[in-house]
Amino acid sequence: MAKHSVPKYKKSKPRSALRYGAFKTRALKQLSNAVNLMKCHDCGAKKIVHMVCHECGKYNGRQVINKQKEIEKITKIKA
Ligand SMILES: [Zn+2]
Repeated sequence: MAKHSVPKYKKSKPRSALRYGAFKTRALKQLSNAVNLMKCHDCGAKKIVHMVCHECGKYNGRQVINKQKEIEKITKIKA
């Protein structure tokens, strides 16, 4: 086991690539496990589990966010 950091020129390129490849696959695996997506029961769009659907504003069949009202809020210009 190396006690000190190994200089870059001492390590071969394939050896470094192997290590970085392992890091990449590990990071991707962690990212894929971080967010669980599911299909919305009402509109079929992808949504995060236990969260309100951003497409239709429903959660568990119940209307939580009135999407029409939200759109009006955004498009309404105050003079
Ligand atoms: Zn939906």
